[in-house]
Amino acid sequence: MQFSIPRFWRERASHYRLKAVKCRKCGRINYPPSSVCRYCGSKDLEEIYLDKEKAKLLTWTIIYTTPIGFEDKKPRIIGIVETVETHVKILAPITDVLPEELKEGILLEPVLRRINQDREAGLIHYGIAYRPVIKTIGGT
Ligand SMILES: [Zn+2]
Repeated sequence: MQFSIPRFWRERASHYRLKAVKCRKCGRINYPPSSVCRYCGSKDLEEIYLDKEKAKLLTWTIIYTTPIGFEDKKPRIIGIVETVETHVKILAPITDVLPEELKEGILLEPVLRRINQDREAGLIHYGIAYRPVIKTIGGT
């Protein structure tokens, strides 16, 4: 993916946050955010951010092959997590944990992590990843 530096800086806030919208009519949360509630069709929506909440690990996959620019991230763990308060399912990298330490239902917290580096432009891209709140080595 090619990013221009000005565009990257313009958009950086959205890369660092997990934005969603909460419907003021039906109360449901739309993630990814949309301009119309996908449950009731209302346009009366407020922005909320999901990256303040802890989340539980639902499922995950381990990727051993990595594209150019991601080589230092082998293997990568991609999980589906569910936020504990708003119950939104999010696809996100899982970090600071070994694959064998993962268990369904473990509590995770969002952290800002380097996702990859664009060597040509010299940019380092950051994004939200999730890491275990308690290290699982030796059981909890
Ligand atoms: Zn709604």
